[in-house]
Amino acid sequence: MDNDKRARTEAWLHYADELGISPFYRDRASQSGEQSGSESSRAQSQVSTAVSPAPGRAAHPVSAAAAPRRAPAAVPAPKQPAPAAPFVPASPGLSLFDAAERVSNDSLPLIRETIGDCTRCKLHTSRTNIVFGVGNPKAELVFVGEGPGHDEDVQGEPFVGRAGKLLTQMIEAMSLRREDVYICNVVKCRPPENRLPERDEIATCSPFLMRQLDVIRPKVICCLGACSAQTLLQTTQGISRFRGEWMDFRGSKLIATYHPAYLLRNPAAKPEVWKDLQKVMAVLGLQPKRK
Ligand code: SF4
Repeated sequence: MDNDKRARTEAWLHYADELGISPFYRDRASQSGEQSGSESSRAQSQVSTAVSPAPGRAAHPVSAAAAPRRAPAAVPAPKQPAPAAPFVPASPGLSLFDAAERVSNDSLPLIRETIGDCTRCKLHTSRTNIVFGVGNPKAELVFVGEGPGHDEDVQGEPFVGRAGKLLTQMIEAMSLRREDVYICNVVKCRPPENRLPERDEIATCSPFLMRQLDVIRPKVICCLGACSAQTLLQTTQGISRFRGEWMDFRGSKLIATYHPAYLLRNPAAKPEVWKDLQKVMAVLGLQPKRK
């Protein structure tokens, strides 16, 4: 591990210490520098750059105030690079979210009420509407994107722009309707100029996503793009390392695939996404839609 990677790893572990979740990250420390994938490079660089927790992040059970502080542990000894090391999605022990307390008697309306007219992170300054999520509250399948875009910000509903239309087509190709699934994002307010959500914004807002997933308890979570996958899996690895692989997340099966916006720019990737969706269909017992 070179000095730059070591410094980033130490900064990341320091941040994990702040959250009281260092054991979770230390399980992955040896792989934190092994990133790849062009589509997700901005998100990866944001996730792998340590920042202090946002001051307003008090809504989540894993808030800095609630989490126990732990003494810094030794940084793992440098290892020889392993070019094709498999992705390690989940620790057999407690993960960040497994370790978090679940909110008893929680519900989607209660989560929305808790969010209120949120000003917990800086994204509130430029938003038009909070985009909470839409769909079947008992859905077996939840799609998680990164954050609202312009159309979503205006309409207050996720995935209603060009990428949203493509997602709707993908859903219908799976023999489902949009209202059969639940659709939401990691952050509920639009990042300005359609940039990716920043680390402090994700840390502040993602607890609401965790609560949504805990309430819905879907059979399958399909992460759309690197940002949502990296957030839920707490990894800095590029999506190409684990796209299409099944992983466990808090009692649900999780799979990551490319974001529809990426497919609009790279239609050649559509067959790969369709393969991923077919895996989801197999788990849910769905047959492809007849033409
Ligand atoms: Fe609040 Fe989330 Fe919007 Fe930030 S993105 S202001 S945490 S609702």
